[in-house]
Amino acid sequence: MNEDPKPCAAPPPRRSPYSLYHIYFYLTEGCNLACRHCWIAPAFQAGEKTYPSLEVDLFRSIIAQAKPLGLGAVKLTGGEPLLHPRIADLIEIIKAEDLRFTMETNGVLCTPELARLMSTCKNRFISVSLDGADSETHEWMRGVKGSFSEALRGVQNLVEAGIRPQVIMTILRRNREQMEAVVRLAEKSGASSIKFNLVQPTARGKRMHEEQETLSIEELVAAGRWVETTLAASTKIRVFYSHPAAFKPQSRLFAPDGGCGICGIFGILGVLADGSYALCGIGEQVPELIFGHAAKDRLEDVWKENPILREIREGLPARLEGICGACIMKRMCLGSCIAQNYYTHKSLWAPFWFCDQAQQAGVFPAARKGKEGLPRHAQLP
Ligand code: SF4
Ligand code: SF4
Repeated sequence: MNEDPKPCAAPPPRRSPYSLYHIYFYLTEGCNLACRHCWIAPAFQAGEKTYPSLEVDLFRSIIAQAKPLGLGAVKLTGGEPLLHPRIADLIEIIKAEDLRFTMETNGVLCTPELARLMSTCKNRFISVSLDGADSETHEWMRGVKGSFSEALRGVQNLVEAGIRPQVIMTILRRNREQMEAVVRLAEKSGASSIKFNLVQPTARGKRMHEEQETLSIEELVAAGRWVETTLAASTKIRVFYSHPAAFKPQSRLFAPDGGCGICGIFGILGVLADGSYALCGIGEQVPELIFGHAAKDRLEDVWKENPILREIREGLPARLEGICGACIMKRMCLGSCIAQNYYTHKSLWAPFWFCDQAQQAGVFPAARKGKEGLPRHAQLP
């Protein structure tokens, strides 16, 4: 799956205030890879050992309850969504309900049969992770031998079925020199786009930040500028870099599927593999961001009445603190990732780590701060 907790799919159309447009299903508690940067840190599943995954009847029931609330799209992620023992049934349900369908997968289990089934869904968007241009680098990141060629085979199966996937590469100090090579590999493989993700300081990613295996904030800002100008101009496939809105040039802020500038949090709910409702996959790490359970709570009650969801709706963006409180992009960005911010600071209104670090390092764009700069009362201690 993707390593980025931020809801970065295309933002939901704002039909009515707070319609539940998008559900992120974290289908499995296990994963067949052991990525060193994973922000969810699922159990490693290999051999005979299996871990729980979302029951099909619950999946069906959640979708049926969500449609009257405005559901138009589902994302299947994990763990690894293709590990789900009845993944084909889940895709058939999505198809029958005529929902927009996105999936984030490591590609290893993407067989020709599954790829063909996905291709029959009308509105689908599949992302496959490739963290290096060679097996040594990719497998150092992903923890399992053979996963590079298997991921490439997964991409090939998708392309042969008529789906041009997005490639997602997560950038670390170890693979930063391969960014251009991965673009070339994505082009050659038939991908439609590439997205560069940053390691979020959550779960295993937190340890990578602490051990300085990630790039410094200055390096991340510089890499973003290079990707969005030089690298993007060198290829026909679309190129995205997952830095917050304040760092994007105007021309990229409103690009379709343009990479995480506009937050969809008001229309998104997460469902974990055990059937819990949560803000997103962060519920695996932060129990207070779990809002109920599909087997006993009505979705409408959770969506409309949960106190944390209501607090988020009432508080964003006005209550954002620190650099997010001062940022002129806050109405569209909404603090980038409330889940990540809460994980780090135990506050829904805390600033996003990237912009916070950029502000402290003096590389936050001055033009994206309000006239008074950072108000004293908005600063965190
Ligand atoms: S494939 Fe995805 S879910 Fe599995 S360990 Fe890697 S990043 Fe985590
Ligand atoms: S400062 Fe906060 S609101 Fe502004 S772009 Fe960064 S994360 Fe988004």
